[in-house]
Amino acid sequence: MSSCGHDHHSHGLTGQTLAAELGAADARCAEAGQKLTAPRRRVLEQLLEAGQPVKAYDLIATFAADAPAKPPTVYRALDFLSKQGFAHRIESLNAYVACRHAAGEGPANHAAAFLICDCCGATREIDPAVLDSIETAAKAPGFTIQSVTIEAHGLCADCA
Ligand SMILES: [Zn+2]
Ligand SMILES: [Zn+2]
Ligand SMILES: [Zn+2]
Repeated sequence: MSSCGHDHHSHGLTGQTLAAELGAADARCAEAGQKLTAPRRRVLEQLLEAGQPVKAYDLIATFAADAPAKPPTVYRALDFLSKQGFAHRIESLNAYVACRHAAGEGPANHAAAFLICDCCGATREIDPAVLDSIETAAKAPGFTIQSVTIEAHGLCADCA
């Protein structure tokens, strides 16, 4: 996949930073009257460690050290994490990525836009500035938007 000749290092979280994020996620779930169950916590941990989009089947394969997870366990956890604003589904990659908002800050179910590098896979979540115009445009036909995700593909500064 690499053709630009540089190292594609991971941008995932480790150690203290990872533990702090998971702690914040725990606290935020409790505040919302939700529970960050063990499978939900583990899937969030996997996404944070990866630091870039991960396909569901990779999450299933690496869920536990000894055996793959049952797919519904992982899919239900992903569903929860997406609805609560901890993760986003990247349609064009059929993958999931941790939200760039620190756990506890991103609003549940918020709209997101992504810049996706097709060379190294680095994915940056940006503020969808066009969202206002989409909302305005939806108003006229009386359409109620439930979710918006914008996915831009290209090359990051390192790979360009
Ligand atoms: Zn987000
Ligand atoms: Zn790149
Ligand atoms: Zn590259």
